[in-house]
Amino acid sequence: MSLASPVRVRFAPSPTGGLHIGGIRTALYNYLLARQTGGTMILRIEDTDQNRFVPGAEQYILDALAWVGIQIDEGGPAGGPFGPYRQSERLPIYREHARQLLAAGKAYYAFDTESEVETMRERLKAQGSDDLTYNSRSRMTMKNSLTLPAEEVKQRLATGQPYVIRLKVPESGDVRLNDLIRGEVVMQTARIDDKVLIKSDGYPTYHLANVVDDYLMKVTHVIRGEEWLPSAPLHVLLYESLGWADAMPQFAHLPLLLKPDGNGKLSKRDAQRLGFPIFPLTWTDPTTGEETTGYREAGYLPEALVNFLALLGWNPGTTQELFTLEQLIAAFSLDRISKAGARFDIQKAHWFNQQYLRAKPLSELAAMLSAAATRDQLACPPDKALKIAGALRERIAFPADLWIQGRLFFVAPDHYDEQIVSKKWNADVVRVFGEIRQQLMHAENLTAEEAKTLVEAAAAHAGVKPGSILQALRLALTGGAGGPDLMVTIEILGGPETAQRIANALQRIPVKAA
Ligand code: GLU
Repeated sequence: MSLASPVRVRFAPSPTGGLHIGGIRTALYNYLLARQTGGTMILRIEDTDQNRFVPGAEQYILDALAWVGIQIDEGGPAGGPFGPYRQSERLPIYREHARQLLAAGKAYYAFDTESEVETMRERLKAQGSDDLTYNSRSRMTMKNSLTLPAEEVKQRLATGQPYVIRLKVPESGDVRLNDLIRGEVVMQTARIDDKVLIKSDGYPTYHLANVVDDYLMKVTHVIRGEEWLPSAPLHVLLYESLGWADAMPQFAHLPLLLKPDGNGKLSKRDAQRLGFPIFPLTWTDPTTGEETTGYREAGYLPEALVNFLALLGWNPGTTQELFTLEQLIAAFSLDRISKAGARFDIQKAHWFNQQYLRAKPLSELAAMLSAAATRDQLACPPDKALKIAGALRERIAFPADLWIQGRLFFVAPDHYDEQIVSKKWNADVVRVFGEIRQQLMHAENLTAEEAKTLVEAAAAHAGVKPGSILQALRLALTGGAGGPDLMVTIEILGGPETAQRIANALQRIPVKAA
């Protein structure tokens, strides 16, 4: 592939259910290269495995890509000159290429039943062989167009007997490819089995369809997960067998996403066990009705997820961590992708979310808060929403935190943290609070500064250190120990509401006898 040819990359998911988050990373890396080079991003739906087809999964893929901001240039609703882009609509194309391979003696018909193939395996096992596959050594013992008389083959085909078409892998020699990430990969053909190309249902296998389509769609770079690396030599062999060796795309196999502890590949089960999403969007299994929460529904922002995923396996070569999609497009390069698996550190995703949420305009955070208040049927005046958003901005990692932490500005506490009561509530507190309450009762528009002065003066007047009553004050206002700045909290609540909450606490919390 000459350097001058425009980059054409593809994301080629199979619509088998929710899309693993690793699929989004694969799509993202393809997209970054496409956009950086002014190339083309193709979406190809690989739906030739009828047993695994799941209704709704294709639309889900489109929705997930749209949510993270990956735009498709060809395929999906965009269409394009090399379509159809759904493999189930390309069956005659694969059959035609299988026919070409048969005619060239590079493939053959095999008529063996499943149980005959099983018998072969048992025989090989009994002989002590460690390779039990249908391959260049075992094929001559089987029922196929290499071993049966030509007449019989013809007759079997004419009478509609079931068959598959297999690739005739050369007995000896090496297959080589130069992976852009892994370097040179060499495999002896003797270690490759005679893969089925066309199944007995007439559908192609992944391998044939994938190679034929990459060629016909003029794909220049195959960027995909490492789990496909073992198939790559077979794909190279297919290119060679089809006479397309000169038009072979470049391969780049992305490092695996590992469990957070770095031990092994991240599975859906791991994610569920550890309590984080594995799918970009919530997926509902159409058969079982089982719902699996997605990153979107869990409150992750798409730009945070994109930034997080971009750095799982690629690094910019600097210490910069925050990248917009535009910046990623500019900085990305295949040669900075590492070979080593990337540990899926969900805490880092959390951190990115925090950064992006903080960077949002206050008005947007305020709108999220108002919406949550409205859902709880509580009125939230715009200026109050803005103040609360400002107070909470540095304290939240997810949009939902706005309401989890902000609700206290709307609803007075109905119980008080026992520990703080026992440590901090005492006669001094009661004395000072009586005075603070009096002064706040009519203080409608009080700033945090004024609140501070007032609280400190009241404490001084009663002869106690202000520091010794602050936790009790927070307790009276919020019921607990945490929360945004106390004086800002008073400002947002306003004098009368603060006074009311103090009165409630004075009434409900008994003072221990000294
Ligand atoms: N259909 C394959 C998948 O679901 C595509 C692999 C490839 O990109 O070649 O991952």
